[in-house]
Amino acid sequence: MTPSPNRRSVLRALGAGTLCLAAGTAFAGGIPAGLAWRLRGGRVFTQGRLEDRDVGIDGDGRIVLDDLTAATVAEVVDCTGRIVAPGFIDALADRAGGDSRVYEEYKLADGVTTALELHGGVADPGAYHFGESRRPHRINHGVGAKVMAVRALHSSVDARSRQIERALDGGALSVSHSIEYQPVGFPELLAYARIAARRTRPVVLHLRYSSAALELEGVREAVRLARESGAHVHIAHLNSTGGTFAPEAALDLLRAGRAEGLALTCCVYPYGFWATYLRSRRFDYGWRERYGLDFSDLEVVGTGERLTARSFAHYRQTGGVIVAVPDGTMDIRRTVDLPLREPFCLVGSDGGMKRASGPNTHPRGSGTFATAVRRAIDTGLGLEYILGVLTERPRALIGRPLDDRGRIAAGARADVVVFDPATIRNLGTAADPVKHSEGIDAVFVNGRPAYRAGVLEVAGVGIRGG
Ligand SMILES: [Zn+2]
Repeated sequence: MTPSPNRRSVLRALGAGTLCLAAGTAFAGGIPAGLAWRLRGGRVFTQGRLEDRDVGIDGDGRIVLDDLTAATVAEVVDCTGRIVAPGFIDALADRAGGDSRVYEEYKLADGVTTALELHGGVADPGAYHFGESRRPHRINHGVGAKVMAVRALHSSVDARSRQIERALDGGALSVSHSIEYQPVGFPELLAYARIAARRTRPVVLHLRYSSAALELEGVREAVRLARESGAHVHIAHLNSTGGTFAPEAALDLLRAGRAEGLALTCCVYPYGFWATYLRSRRFDYGWRERYGLDFSDLEVVGTGERLTARSFAHYRQTGGVIVAVPDGTMDIRRTVDLPLREPFCLVGSDGGMKRASGPNTHPRGSGTFATAVRRAIDTGLGLEYILGVLTERPRALIGRPLDDRGRIAAGARADVVVFDPATIRNLGTAADPVKHSEGIDAVFVNGRPAYRAGVLEVAGVGIRGG
């Protein structure tokens, strides 16, 4: 079931100061000497701190921070008691072939203004951006050069390397590979990482191993890749691959590599369980021993059905079935809270809602960012700290293509989320992951009200490297 936001409660949250002017009017011809929006009275996250101030948005969708008292304003939003922060940046989004309108709706409702598919991506980002630029988007979007897709197109490392160069020319934001799903030798990986280094794009890796016995070997390989290629190597979802069983040791390896001067980062999703396709190599022979789990521990995402040896065998042949392991399989205090205290760890969803109902995906697809904020407040990590994690760190990972986004600063693109720190949370579960996050009052994308009072608008643009 898709909850529809309660229009009246959101309007109330936005306050009595809201004027009844259609947003379209404000943007029809721009407002030369005035503001399109004034976000009044909120706690604003700017330059790493929360401070009380107003934020203006001009007719070009840029942030204005001057004295706003004299400005002509088309519409005022009362943000009293609310946090006004840069929209969250999901660097590890994954639409996984689902309905992109549903995918973008649930990202937006989770406070995300830019979702980048850097776990994978496509073989030809130029074609991707050409196609996507002709479609409406609720949020900003971008992709990596997906090595698995590149390898499917070409058989030699030389031809694959040329394709990766073309992908970077076409706007790829990263070079991305899932070594566990499609094992390749280190020399081939190194060839691609050297291209990424030359083009100052990160290599995003789903590591080679996720078992207790070998996970640290995967982390060591990532460190070696950074050392030998000179590339920035970013480890996708360290909590589920590489740092599940011995996160302290995995973080030690990353810390030591960074002390050597290597560019190493990682991300986590803030949940104590993982979910993936039953067809995945993760469920190849020996999985029960590898993870210490049994058939009955596996829950079909979207229905809650528990598996048996028989249904396991059946669904593994069927395809398209996603299963979740029990909550607590990953100790969230060690696998999520601990990495997030490091300056090199981001939050990435590794997901996205594929459909508005039914068997779908891990609740991280709809709720990663509200969950991360809630957890940071509840565990004492702190609101200011987590806002930096959700905005400044992905900006640093992506570099130039996000130069004018992800911060509340004069002249920056107005990608902004307004939320209530008392109520922000997500309610998604494995059985029912399709939930809008609570406590998100308004989201502006490129200065337009993309999510407000239950109304969703189209305001996103493509984010390209190159
Ligand atoms: Zn992965």
